[in-house]
Amino acid sequence: MVLDRPRAPLTPVELPEPAAGPGELLVRVHACGVCRTDLHVFDGELPNPKLPLVLGHQIVGTVVGESRRIGIPWLGWTDRECRYCRSGRENLCDHARFTGYDVDGGYAEYTVVDERYSLTLPEGYSALEAAPLLCAGLIGYRSLRLTGDAERLGLYGFGASAHIVAQVARHEGRRVFAFTRPDDEEGQAFARQLGAVWASGSDELPPEELDAAIIFAPVGELVPLALRALAKGGSVVCAGIHMTDIPTFPYELLWEERVLRSVANLTRRDGEEFLALAPQVPLRAVVEAFPLEGANEALESMRSGRIHGSAVLEVAPDEPTS
Ligand SMILES: [Zn+2]
Ligand SMILES: [Zn+2]
Repeated sequence: MVLDRPRAPLTPVELPEPAAGPGELLVRVHACGVCRTDLHVFDGELPNPKLPLVLGHQIVGTVVGESRRIGIPWLGWTDRECRYCRSGRENLCDHARFTGYDVDGGYAEYTVVDERYSLTLPEGYSALEAAPLLCAGLIGYRSLRLTGDAERLGLYGFGASAHIVAQVARHEGRRVFAFTRPDDEEGQAFARQLGAVWASGSDELPPEELDAAIIFAPVGELVPLALRALAKGGSVVCAGIHMTDIPTFPYELLWEERVLRSVANLTRRDGEEFLALAPQVPLRAVVEAFPLEGANEALESMRSGRIHGSAVLEVAPDEPTS
């Protein structure tokens, strides 16, 4: 399913099987998760994507010619030599290439990956269940780490990422306060099912001050709202790659050592840590499956907020190829 230009619906195209270069693996795709970032690329909100482009960076597939199942995340390649790479921050690499953005991704039957950036998947997860772990889960995990040991955790936007992070947070003994679109009672019920101690509209203040909040919704207006909900010394972490403009707000919302920061991309170490943690919780992604040809519908369903959990494209049966 190919994006020819921003905002034009993806079109089914017969492409030649991609060729794996040195150090790369050819992968038969079983499933590919649909991420909010895909929607930002689709909408032309991120600069200079490869075009035409195959979207998708939460890929579960089998290496062609082997029985090895692997995961392919957003971080597709780094230069290993810039000041960020050399200081353990490859997520900030000056020359990083991202899957389904700079290189073709997983809304396809086959893809290629630089083997060094592929991830080993935990046992006990089907391709459909594992796909959302690869970005929704992973970026959520990195965001959660950046909240430190916050006990009272607010999650703004309770979608693909938050529903996984809530499970990790609960496993770690934190209490989750979920914020959804004000009229989304179904979303609030979904959050309570996953262990949120409180769920309400994002225009509400929680019953207690929060030690940290993570904003998953791409809505700048949420930043001052989340700061307002924080206790002294608390953090707001913006987890998305794109957000509408943040309105001005009085300094008193940041005063008393409150922190506002973003999270960008992932390191391979985040991936290894998080995928090792997943079966211990154990994390269970709630998934809505779409066929590969239903990619446009999956993107629009995510846009409308209709999906509770993660949308995943089911590309091919989850069995080893030979
Ligand atoms: Zn680098
Ligand atoms: Zn993503």
